Amino acid sequence: MLAPRTNAYYAKHQQLKMKRGSASDQLCEGGCGGKAHDWANVHGTEDYVPLCVNCHREYDYGTTCPKGHDVKTYGRVPSGGCRVCHRLDDARRTGRSPCNVCGLARCQH
Ligand SMILES: [Zn+2]
Ligand SMILES: [Zn+2]
Ligand SMILES: [Zn+2]
Repeated sequence: MLAPRTNAYYAKHQQLKMKRGSASDQLCEGGCGGKAHDWANVHGTEDYVPLCVNCHREYDYGTTCPKGHDVKTYGRVPSGGCRVCHRLDDARRTGRSPCNVCGLARCQH
């Protein structure tokens, strides 16, 4: 993730604004139903999602990823992304249909 308040950070946000518009024109993807405030980097990827201030803070320091997975229980990958999202992405590539809660094919959910 790019450190805030660096030129690279601002350049990235400027690019996003040009390509995808202002985050504040979009709905927050954190699931709160509110308006977004800023583009948030999806940990471990080059992707960005619009999030409000609360959901952004929740995502960066909280216990769930933007898709609602429990990162406190299932952990993060070394790059900081959600482990469940990672498992689901892997599974999708290989055509498996894993559990949406933990990302494993066989589980107790
Ligand atoms: Zn929100
Ligand atoms: Zn996730
Ligand atoms: Zn499960």
